[in-house]
Amino acid sequence: MKKHFILLLIIITALAGCRKSTYEGYTVSDFSLNTYINITVYSENDVREADDSLLLCHDYENLFSRTITDSQISVLNHTKLLSSPSLPVSDIINKSLYYCELTDGALDITIEPLTSLWNITSGSNIVPDEQCVDDALSGVDYHNVIVDDAGNISLLNNAGIDLGAVAKGYIADKIKEQLIKDNVASAIINLGGNILCIGSRPDGSDYTIGIKRPFDSSGSVMLTLKISDMSVVTSGTYERYFTKDDTIYHHIIDPATGYPADSGLISATIISRDSFTGDCLSTACMVMGLERAISLIDSLDDVYGIFIDNDYNVHYTDGAKNFLK
Ligand code: AMP
Ligand code: MG
Repeated sequence: MKKHFILLLIIITALAGCRKSTYEGYTVSDFSLNTYINITVYSENDVREADDSLLLCHDYENLFSRTITDSQISVLNHTKLLSSPSLPVSDIINKSLYYCELTDGALDITIEPLTSLWNITSGSNIVPDEQCVDDALSGVDYHNVIVDDAGNISLLNNAGIDLGAVAKGYIADKIKEQLIKDNVASAIINLGGNILCIGSRPDGSDYTIGIKRPFDSSGSVMLTLKISDMSVVTSGTYERYFTKDDTIYHHIIDPATGYPADSGLISATIISRDSFTGDCLSTACMVMGLERAISLIDSLDDVYGIFIDNDYNVHYTDGAKNFLK
């Protein structure tokens, strides 16, 4: 009798596991983090959960932004000292410093003096003179970020913090955490192309995610991926740039030179479990170039890269082709 009961329990549990949700999903859209964001939640309480996700996103933006004047990062940049930072600020800075080190400074969160100088999206399209670039470059070194034993953060040598390369990934992970706490089993978080999935689509199929054809104004897709429960983050020269005298000046700056990275790559996509990893590494790979990027990504567990070079050739790290649709 007991055996039959256990068998029945196993069958019921298995059937429940196979049950497909019929939720249609609810999407919130906004312009936040200096980009377009869309969060789609498939659940019973989708409206509340999607709205809460947006609120969380705004809360983090108010801490991390370097352009919101009273954000903690702005205070740090102006006074060079942040006493008792909030938990998320110390967390994102400590985690980012790990990736600055791992990428040998290709990712450098003290890039702010250079991003402010270049101000790529201002519309002024001015190439700063060499002396100004050198001056701004002198403070750029993640070793200038000092976190003391009490957790206070200070900046040496006039350094400034720009979390533009890492914040979207960090925030996407936090939104995912909150949704999972709310028992959401299916959602897709898209923070300006920084994509993070919870589970698979409600019908059990993978999410379909396109990698854009660089510089194509029609927004066509060059590759299509199938993804469940993972993150896909793309960095590209084509995302923010201006052209002057036939030269493209884009928003990913090489901390070694102070000029837009000229590594031979125009797009770097990282597939990873969490989105923070993908955000840090996709920006770093754009600076590192194909060879260094492939060898770094291949050395990491469960992280995959897809790179597009200047001639639109596509390159894959080990295992990355498995995600092609
Ligand atoms: P992403 O779109 O994630 O590749 O981030 C690009 C943004 O990160 C730029 O718009 C800058 O704000 C900032 N950034 C540019 N170059 C670097 C770099 N080498 N390291 C860290 N942040 C950077
Ligand atoms: Mg990034």
